[in-house]
Amino acid sequence: MNRPDFLAMSDKPYHLFVVEDDTALRDMLAAYLERQGLAVTAMASAEELLRRIHRLRPDLVILDVGLPKMSGLQACQQLRAEGDRVPIILLTARTEEIDRVLGLEMGADDYLGKPFSARELLARVRAVLRRAGGAPGTPVGHAVPVRIGEFHFVAASRSLHRGDDAVRVLSSIEYALLAELVLNPGVAISRERLLAASHGRGETLLLRTVDTAIMRLRRLVEPDPAEPRYLQTVRGHGYMFVPHVEARG
Ligand code: CA
Repeated sequence: MNRPDFLAMSDKPYHLFVVEDDTALRDMLAAYLERQGLAVTAMASAEELLRRIHRLRPDLVILDVGLPKMSGLQACQQLRAEGDRVPIILLTARTEEIDRVLGLEMGADDYLGKPFSARELLARVRAVLRRAGGAPGTPVGHAVPVRIGEFHFVAASRSLHRGDDAVRVLSSIEYALLAELVLNPGVAISRERLLAASHGRGETLLLRTVDTAIMRLRRLVEPDPAEPRYLQTVRGHGYMFVPHVEARG
């Protein structure tokens, strides 16, 4: 049997959400994708997607457009409005160009018109995950190191570097918080969202944990942790990464 090379490369499987209200199609897709070595969480509504995505970070979402109540397009738009860049492949019964354009405008990564073959979907999944470039469980957009003052945050190795030296491998919560912050420079991110980003699968943490982890990160990267320059507090809300700006001469 030919297992897909790229998808099966890592020890830990990629985790996909399949959001589809057609039970037969949902079960078929979930079973097929699982046979390809992927971990699948299947659900039937956009509301459930929005409720669960913060607790159980998927690597990719396969999202039906035609869902009861909130549509897949609306859910996609809402996630992007919240700054969530999880890769999304939209599925739709309607194949009009307008849907494709709308879907991509709403921030979807790809689009597949029904009917489609499971193989075709798998090819899209592979392409989108490859483009996202992360190992399973890695937030999107961390291919290049991000400068934080004298340091560089290297997402792939979950570490902080100064010059050529790795000075610290981050704990999983430090890593998750920093990844979420630096991915959204200049955006105030709520403590709740940071907490959600730091959840391992099923792990529970308190909001206070976010604050103490931020303090540890500040002691690492801030020249003066009492007057943070890069990891700033947004009062009554959360935190914000303020990137280093080169002075132009
Ligand atoms: Ca549907």
